[in-house]
Amino acid sequence: MTIWDAAMDQALAQAQLAMGHDDVPVGAVLLDRAGRVLAMAGNEREATGDPTAHAEVLVLRRAARLRHDWRLEGCTLVVTLEPCAMCAGAAVAARVERIVFGAYDQKAGAVASLFDVVRDPRLNHRPLVVGGIKAASSAGLLRSFFAKIVDGDVSERPKELASKASVGQPTEGSNPSVTATKAESSESGAFIAEAEAAVKGR
Ligand SMILES: [Zn+2]
Repeated sequence: MTIWDAAMDQALAQAQLAMGHDDVPVGAVLLDRAGRVLAMAGNEREATGDPTAHAEVLVLRRAARLRHDWRLEGCTLVVTLEPCAMCAGAAVAARVERIVFGAYDQKAGAVASLFDVVRDPRLNHRPLVVGGIKAASSAGLLRSFFAKIVDGDVSERPKELASKASVGQPTEGSNPSVTATKAESSESGAFIAEAEAAVKGR
């Protein structure tokens, strides 16, 4: 149990909803300084046809609108999957205080796995990063989504989805300052690798 579990559960619920419109199941919530939820979203790229409609970008936009202020200082971005470069950049631009994520994304993760675009010492604003919260649950949702693609239940975007499939496990050389529940992560990494092989093998 961590203090982020309840918020991550809400993000996971948003991820689940995203599957209803064929979007990759990733969800996010934005918490204010007191831990209150300011905004929630799941991926809406397929739903809206907007390439930037990742869950993280959506919660940052919604929270900023609510506050009438683009500066989201003191806020925590909680997301089920390690943010990509776009979302990590958006979090820095919004000056969030902290990024808490679930599964690691070895193929596109930009706060620990592939790049670390949020904690470069040359940046003026550097959010704190906590990784691996409920990673198995997040990876499990992604796995079931990929399994449906393999079965042909979801419209086909196999190339892109295959690239999304390698999640769950911190890579070697990941920034050691990232807190991770490693046992949970590596377990989820194994079955995601399986899903990836299945998608690639089409
Ligand atoms: Zn993203």
